[in-house]
Amino acid sequence: MTVPSVLPPTLVGTGDLFQILRDGRPKTRSELAQLTSLARSTIAARVDALLSSGLLEPVGEAASTGGRPPTRFALNRQERVVLAVDLGASHASVAVTDLSGRVLDERTIESDIADGPIVVLDRVSEMALGLLDAIDRTVADVAGVGIGVPGPVEHATGRPANPPIMPGWHDFDVPAHLGRRIPGPVLVDNDVNLMALGEYVTTFPSTGHLLLVKVATGIGAGIVTEGRLLRGALGSAGDLGHVQVASASPDVVCRCGNIGCLEAVAAGPAIAARLRASGLDVDGSQDIVDAVAAGEIAALQAVREAGRDLGSVLATCVNLLNPSVIVLGGKLSEAGEYLLAGVREVVYQRSLPLATHDLQIVGTAAGSRGGILGASAMVIDAVLAPRAIDEYVARRIA
Ligand SMILES: [Zn+2]
Repeated sequence: MTVPSVLPPTLVGTGDLFQILRDGRPKTRSELAQLTSLARSTIAARVDALLSSGLLEPVGEAASTGGRPPTRFALNRQERVVLAVDLGASHASVAVTDLSGRVLDERTIESDIADGPIVVLDRVSEMALGLLDAIDRTVADVAGVGIGVPGPVEHATGRPANPPIMPGWHDFDVPAHLGRRIPGPVLVDNDVNLMALGEYVTTFPSTGHLLLVKVATGIGAGIVTEGRLLRGALGSAGDLGHVQVASASPDVVCRCGNIGCLEAVAAGPAIAARLRASGLDVDGSQDIVDAVAAGEIAALQAVREAGRDLGSVLATCVNLLNPSVIVLGGKLSEAGEYLLAGVREVVYQRSLPLATHDLQIVGTAAGSRGGILGASAMVIDAVLAPRAIDEYVARRIA
C-alpha cells in the first residue's frame, strides 16, 4: 500500500481505523483503543486527522466514569455526496446519496439507451447537476459516481462489452466522458450486479451470500459472495439467460441463436407469446403482471411454469454457489407468489439438502430502487476504503 508522502508516519493507518467507524455507531477514543489495541496517543492523532478532514464528527458524550465525560465520534455522512445512476433500456434514474447510502434526492426520466452514450451520459450529467443544485451541493462535494447499464461491462475499465441492446456503447469510455463534468471516480457495472448489491446492503447486510435474479425482458443474475460482487474474469458472471433448460422443446430458438435458452422459455416475451397463443391480449411483462393480478388462469399457469424453468437452472446455481438467499427482481417478479412458487418447487426438489437447508427464496424488497442503491454502495465501498481515506485525509490536512 502506498500512502502519500504528505501523510505523517504517525497517521499511516488512519484509513484502517476509519473502517471501524463506517457503521455510523458512535465510539469514544478509549473504545477505539480497545477495539484496535493501538496506543491511546496513536488513536488520538488519527481521530484528530479524521476530524480535520471532516469525515468524522463529534456526536455527544458517553456516560462519565468520573471526571469529564468522553466525546463520542461517528462518520459524518454529510461530508461528501455520491451520484448513483441506473440506466435501463428506456429510463434513466439519477440519485444523490450521502456517505451512508441514504438517498437525498432522485429523479427518473424516460431515456432511450439506443440514443447512444454521448446523448445519454450528457442527459445524466444535466440531471445530476440539477439534483445537486436542488439540495444546495456542488460538484466539488461529489465523492464519486456509480452507474449501472443494461448490458455486460468490463468493470475495471468501465467500458460496456458488446451490449446487445445498447447500440453505439461497445467499448465506450464511460468514466472519461462523465469525468469531464463530474470529478471523482466513475465506476460502471451491469445493472443486475448493482441490483444484487443494492438488495444486499439494504435488506440482507448480514447475509454474506446472495443471488439476485432479474426476470423481465431478459434474465440475468448478480452474485454477492462474502459481501462482495462476484464478477468473474471479465465481468460476465451471472449471465443466466442463455443457459439451456433441459426440458425445453428443441424448436425453441433464442435470439442468441442457440436452442432452449432460459430466456427463450421463461422471460417476458416468451410468456407473452404463449399467452397470445391461448387467446389473451398480452404484449410485454407489464401485461403479464396485470393478467396475473386479474386472476387469469392461463397467466397464473404460464408464470408458474416459467418459475419452474427458472428453478431448474437455479437448482444448479444453488449446488454450485450455496447462497443463503435468492432474491427475484425485475418486472416479472411483480407477479409475486406464482413465480416464486414455481422456483421454490424445483429448487427444493433438485438441489442438495445441505444447500437448501437454510435457503430463502424471496421477492425483491428494494424493487426498482435496487440499482440506484447498489450503485451508491459500490462507490461508497471504493471511496471509504482504507487507502482512499488515507489519501483524502492527506489532501485535507496538507
Ligand atoms: Zn440464448
